[in-house]
Parts: sequence; C-alpha cells; structure tokens
Amino acid sequence: NVNSAKSPCTDQFEEAVPHQKTTLPEVSLLKIFKLSKSEWPFVVLGTLASALNGSVHPAFSIIFGKLVTMFEDKNKTTLKQDAELYSMMLVVLGIVALVTYLMQGLFYGRAEEILAMRLRHSAFKAMLYQDMAWYDEKDNSTGALTTTLAVDVAQIRGAATSRLGIITQDVTNMSLSILISFVYGWEMTLLILSFAPILAVTGMIQTAAMAGFANKDKQELKRAGKIATEAVENIRTVVSLTREKAFEHMYEETLRTQHRNALKRAHITGSCYAVSHAFVHFAHAAGFRFGAYLIQAGRMTPEGMFIVFTAIAYGAMAIGETLVWAPEYSKAKAGAAHLFALLKNKPSIDSCSQNGEKPDACEGNLEFREVSFFYPCRPEVPVLQDMSLSIEKGKTVAFVGSSGCGKSTCVQLLQRFYDPMKGQVLLDGVDVKELNVQWLRSQTAIVSQEPVLFNCSIAENIAYGDNSRMVPLEEIKEVADAANIHSFIEGLPGKYSTQVGLRGMHLSGGQKQRLAIARALLRKPKILLLDEATSALDNESEKMVQQALDKARRGRTCLVVAHRLSTIQNADMIVVLQNGRIKEQGTHQELLRNGETYFKLATAH
Ligand code: ADP
Repeated sequence: NVNSAKSPCTDQFEEAVPHQKTTLPEVSLLKIFKLSKSEWPFVVLGTLASALNGSVHPAFSIIFGKLVTMFEDKNKTTLKQDAELYSMMLVVLGIVALVTYLMQGLFYGRAEEILAMRLRHSAFKAMLYQDMAWYDEKDNSTGALTTTLAVDVAQIRGAATSRLGIITQDVTNMSLSILISFVYGWEMTLLILSFAPILAVTGMIQTAAMAGFANKDKQELKRAGKIATEAVENIRTVVSLTREKAFEHMYEETLRTQHRNALKRAHITGSCYAVSHAFVHFAHAAGFRFGAYLIQAGRMTPEGMFIVFTAIAYGAMAIGETLVWAPEYSKAKAGAAHLFALLKNKPSIDSCSQNGEKPDACEGNLEFREVSFFYPCRPEVPVLQDMSLSIEKGKTVAFVGSSGCGKSTCVQLLQRFYDPMKGQVLLDGVDVKELNVQWLRSQTAIVSQEPVLFNCSIAENIAYGDNSRMVPLEEIKEVADAANIHSFIEGLPGKYSTQVGLRGMHLSGGQKQRLAIARALLRKPKILLLDEATSALDNESEKMVQQALDKARRGRTCLVVAHRLSTIQNADMIVVLQNGRIKEQGTHQELLRNGETYFKLATAH
C-alpha cells in the first residue's frame, strides 16, 4: 500500500497500528509522566521545588521539638537567645515554603497548560484524520469524543505535572519525617508505626472505591453527554416526534445511576474516614503512654518525644494527602487509555499522506472492477458484490434502486472514504489506492442530500470549496450565479456576509442545495457526485436546483444517486442496483423496454 509510509499527520502516532476495533490499552504511570517530556525543564524545576518544599515540615518538627523543651530551662538569658534562634529558623522555613510554593505554581502551571494544549491539539488532529470506519464505531460518537478533548485531557494534564509535584512533596516529607523519628526515638516510632497497617488498609479501600466509582462515573457522564448531544443536535426532529420525554427519561436515568454511585462511594469513604481518624487518636494515646515510660527509663529525652510526635504527624498527613490524590491517577489512567487508543489508531486511508500518484491531468474515466464491499462495523452485511461498471469521462450515470441497495456506498468508495474488500475502483485506469488521497478528493465535489453548511457567512461557506487559496469575492459571485443563488444572496441585507446559522439553519432546503452546488463548482471538479435532494424540495426550488445541476454537469463525469426517476431520464446511463449487484443498465428508453426492475420502479412512481 503506497500510503503506508509516514506522513505529517501520522508522525504523532508513535507505534501506530492500522484501524481495528478499538480496545483500550493499559496505561502505566510512567507513560503518563512521559507525556510531559517536552516540558521537562519546567517539570524538573517544579519537582526540585516540590522536594525542597517537602523538607519544610520535617525540619519544622525538629525545631518544634527543641522549641518546646527550651521552656524547661528557667535561665532567662539562654531562653531569650534560644527563642530568637528558633524564631529566626522558623522565618527561614516560612521563606523557603513561600519561594518553593511560588516556584511549583509557576513551573508546573506552565508545563500543565502547554501539555493540555498539545494533547488537545493532537487528539483533535487524530480525530480529523481517522477513517470513516472509525467514526462508524459506536464508541466514537460526538459526545464521547468531546469528552476525550475536555475531560480526559484535563485529567492527564494534572497527573503528569502539578500532581506529580504534590506527590514528590509528600514523599519527601514522609521519608524525612520517618527518618527523623527513627533517629530521635526508634522504639516509639516503631510503636506508632504499628498502627500504620490499619490506616493503610482503610486508605487503600478508600482509594480503590474512589477509583472504581470514578470509572463508572465517567462512563455515565459519557452516556449522558451522548444523550444530550444527540437531543440538542437534532432538536427539531426530537420536538416534532415529541420525543422530549423519552430523552428526558434517558438522561435522568444516567443521573440516577451517578447518584447511586455517589451514595455508595460516600458510605464507603465515610466509614474508612471514621475508622482512620479514630485510630489516629488511639495511636496518640499509646504513644504518650509508651513515651512516658521510655523517658522514665532514660531511653528517650522529652525533646525526642516531641520531635517524633510532630514528625510522624506530618508524615501521616503527607501519606493522607498522597492517598487523596491517588484516585486522580486512576482517572488519569482511564483518560490516557482513551487518548492513547485514539492516537495509536493509524488511519488506513491517510488523507494527509504526501504519497501516491498525482497525475498532471484528470480525464474523469471511472471504473468499478469486481468490487465487493461491506462496512467494517457490520461485516455480516455484504453491501456490494462483484460489481463491475465503466463510466466514460464526461458522462452522467445515475444509480437507482431501492433504499439501502448500495448507491451512496459507490459514491463513498470513489472518494476513498473506504476501500473495497475485493476488486478495485479506478480513475483513468489507475487504482484509487495508488493515487494521492488529497489529489483524488480534489478531483471530486459532492452535493449531498442534506448539504452541510458551516456556521459562518455565505461567502465563507462557498469558499470552503477551495482551501488552497484565498478565493476572490468575484469568483464566489460567479459560481453563485452559475448555481442560481446569486440574485437571492444579493437581495439579503447582509449579501455575501450573511451568516447562515448553525448547519445553515437560516436557509431553506433549496437555498442550501444551491449554496452547496456553488461550493462544488468552485472546486472545478472533474467528477461531480450528486446525492439527489430534489424530493425534499418544492416545485419552484426543484426547478432552480435542477437547472443549476444541469449547468454544473457540463464537461464533467457525473454520478447521480437518484431518488426520483423523473430527474434522471436524460442520463447517459442508468444503473439499477439490487442487493449490491448491478441488475440492469442502459438508457431510460432501453431500460423501459428491457429492464424489468427499472420498468417496475418507473411505473411505481
Ligand atoms: P443507498 O444509498 O442505496 O440507500 P447505502 O449505500 O447508503 O444505500 O447503504 C447500503 C447498505 O449499507 C445499507 O444496508 C446500509 O444500512 C448500510 N450502511 C450504509 N452506511 C453504513 C455505515 N456507515 N455503516 C454501516 N452500514 C452502513
């Protein structure tokens, strides 16, 4: 396959694999951290600041222990000196904390924003260049994909940067605190640490519960997103079918599940919290009793006891904080799994590839050679079977047949949205797989049944047809005129600057069609693909659209997906499809005479 080499769009897909049904990969923490590789100077500086910050509390515990015991000394002069010394030390600690917190915020903040921007950019880019087959998968709906861009990236962003700082700070704090405790009173440290397993177990239960629910919450959130997007995107249909209640119920159900999960989570975490807090007090009680015994026996000083207590308290706080953040890591792992699945999925038809032939001229001769095809998401349904058809340049060929017989599929194969499982689609005798994908698509223009307009001005919508240059307004007007829409636009107060609204909502079906024809004409395509929409238009609009199309067809190979036979009687050839095979082919007159299926279709209309 000529398109298998690396292209600018797939450079980012490290270890990319061709499209298959997406399975979510296991993501290690290391891999998440590695995501911020390019921001390493900020991450390193932030981490150094965090480690320094993590030493503030252990240092404080030593100063505090000494500070408390200095009051035992009744000698006023030493007390004053000591108080000044230790106060100064505390001021220094305060300054260290101030500077390191500021550094953490500054460096991690920077790294975090750059990383988020990069991840969102590559995720969106990866989405744009996926195969159509990938979009057919149910997990890749609009709602799910926007969640990846918004939620998943936000979770990864924190995990790879600022949370790393908090954990570095906590781990430094914890290790130094335990070290200090052992140095100043190993026996008491051991006793207090014997309570640690209980605290660790409750912490672990809490973390596991939070992680489990985080995953469930996310799925429900995705489901809710999908439902809401679908309803809002298709609000007119929803309202006219009076399906509001049904959507409301579906949405409510996802909220209920989230609510049930939240309750369970609250019970589990609440109980663990209660147990761990009670045990903190038990540990204090045991510690003080044992400490008194050790001091009496001359095996520890009062200063040592205070230092051990303070250090362990800070160490425990650090452990607690780390455990609180741990669920965030499970969320980040789940988010990263989605992101990596997306980035790893290399499109098998790479529309960004520079490879493939780019012939100087395109004649527009088309051929389907023994083409068999099924949609990858529904391999059990054969759509085209051994279909062979030649279309000479400049001719108009209409595909007819009952709905679902494979007419639009032929058009999609020509644009290389999918590749046939067997056989070839050829343009001027060259397999379309050998051609550069962008070049191939630039030779075609499509006017579909429901033309898609973007939320911008009329002029911009027409100019979308050619993104290789700035299109002058004069040229836009010319194609609009050829598409029978110029005088309508001139009659609008905003003329060509008029905004068309979301998906062209401010325009009628016929106007949208004619704008789409103007846009197609701007491409100067050799092959015009028409998914007929005339059935949805009133008589007047239909006539104007039909005239525009007749003009547009001149000098081009034209493939028409016909929904009404009346509009295609002048086609050079009519192809009757049935169950993915060509049943009959010929002109209107020939088929009326010899084509049994065509005759039935024609008389039924
Ligand atoms: P026609 O244009 O003749 O109405 P299509 O070519 O759109 O028919 O569809 C042919 C068959 O393929 C139908 O059974 C349809 O349900 C199925 N099909 C169309 N598009 C997809 C898709 N994206 N994913 C799965 N199946 C599809």
